[in-house]
Amino acid sequence: MPQHTDIAIIGAGAAGLAAGIFAAGTNPNLRIILLDSAKNIGAKILVSGGGRCNITNQRVTASDFHGNRKLIDRILRRFDEQATIRWFESLGVLLQTEATGKLFPVSNKARTVLDALHQRCAALGVSLLTQHPVRDITREGDEFSIQHSRGTLRANRVILATGGRSLPKTGSDGSGWALAQQLGHTVQPTHPALVPLLLDPSFFHATLSGISHDVMLTTTIAGKTIDRRTGSLLWTHFGISGPVVLDASRFWVRAATQKEDVHLYVNCFPQLSPHDIEKWLIQTAALPGRKTIPAILAERLPSRVAATLASVHEPDLSRTPVNLLSKEARRILVQSLTNLELPIIGSRGWNFAEVTAGGVPLEQISPQSMGSRIVPGLYVIGEMLDCDGRIGGFNFQWAWATGFLAGSHAALQFPSSD
Ligand SMILES: Cc1cc2nc3c(=O)[nH]c(=O)nc-3n(C[C@H](O)[C@H](O)[C@H](O)COP(=O)(O)OP(=O)(O)OC[C@H]3O[C@@H](n4cnc5c(N)ncnc54)[C@H](O)[C@@H]3O)c2cc1C
Repeated sequence: MPQHTDIAIIGAGAAGLAAGIFAAGTNPNLRIILLDSAKNIGAKILVSGGGRCNITNQRVTASDFHGNRKLIDRILRRFDEQATIRWFESLGVLLQTEATGKLFPVSNKARTVLDALHQRCAALGVSLLTQHPVRDITREGDEFSIQHSRGTLRANRVILATGGRSLPKTGSDGSGWALAQQLGHTVQPTHPALVPLLLDPSFFHATLSGISHDVMLTTTIAGKTIDRRTGSLLWTHFGISGPVVLDASRFWVRAATQKEDVHLYVNCFPQLSPHDIEKWLIQTAALPGRKTIPAILAERLPSRVAATLASVHEPDLSRTPVNLLSKEARRILVQSLTNLELPIIGSRGWNFAEVTAGGVPLEQISPQSMGSRIVPGLYVIGEMLDCDGRIGGFNFQWAWATGFLAGSHAALQFPSSD
């Protein structure tokens, strides 16, 4: 005889746990079961934000996300960053805001966040079945039949919260999309986002490994700029990382996957125009002291970066005094400093991506409830959806907001206790 529940939530990550808590909080009489394939849930919460869990941001808008921004805006308005702060306070997790606008638990430990979510689920009587991968879901009459590794569960409402494909060892291996497809949804092509990028091994990046500084990155497709952003870039032994690279990566990865003519350029002087740099070099050349090019560039860049950039196109420039710089050499130098093409050969892939771009189209979901427009009684939330946020706590805000909407709406479909 298969087990029966009112609400089954598939996936006990950030979005699934939030949905369970809000469903149980809305109607305490309901039987709510969370099924997860992993042995230990919340692995992604534990590794997030460098082990500190960047829960949200002090200002969250639809422009911090990629996807259908009109729908994203409607969803975020129903549960904004202030609601997240109040909710975590009610779970006993106080948050602090950093200068960057990111919010972390005061404890600075992601474990505090996971424990609070876990404990509230237990206190509300939400059942958690770990090591229960779901393989199949069919709709039979008014109910769903859920095939998992240990049998069948029947449910009146199903909330799909199986995440994306980033960091698959945490349990988020993309298998949830097959469940959504089986029920009639489509899935936009997926690719890693917020992912470090690999550079051609013959490039100079390895010599700068560990150095970070502010840059502007420009992504072009067939010569047309599709993304431009400024922030901190980290040189590594394999290529580039750091917030600005992670945020830009989705554009390069998607275009490369589609075999488009994509290029990435770095400007190491985002605060100055090429004209200003040229003027600065000319003015410095007129000063006494005969400084070398690397020494001058080091006034505004980390010295190893300065030395490397000085000689990237003209090896002799690393020793040339600035007053002996020819007009043509100066032009090439300014080009290297402001528009240097980075020879990207790929990304570090799903094992290093923080999030997934692509997924179930938002147009197939009601922004009031996260309910499916295709399958009555089904909800889809979190990273499964075709929406990805930039670095800064936005992806968790998406998980909490969509979990809130689906959990509370699903619970309201049953008669209340009073
Ligand atoms: C290294 C790293 C750091 C990050 N840091 C941050 C950060 O600081 N701030 C931020 O906002 N975002 C961060 N993110 C992104 C954030 O973790 C995700 O966007 C968020 O966890 C997505 O939540 P989710 O519940 O949708 O999916 P997940 O957290 O991926 O949860 C999905 C769950 O579903 C389960 N599951 C999958 N398939 C099945 C199945 N077939 N049957 C049963 N269970 C299944 C999985 O085991 C998993 O537990 C980070 C991500 C990574 C990888």
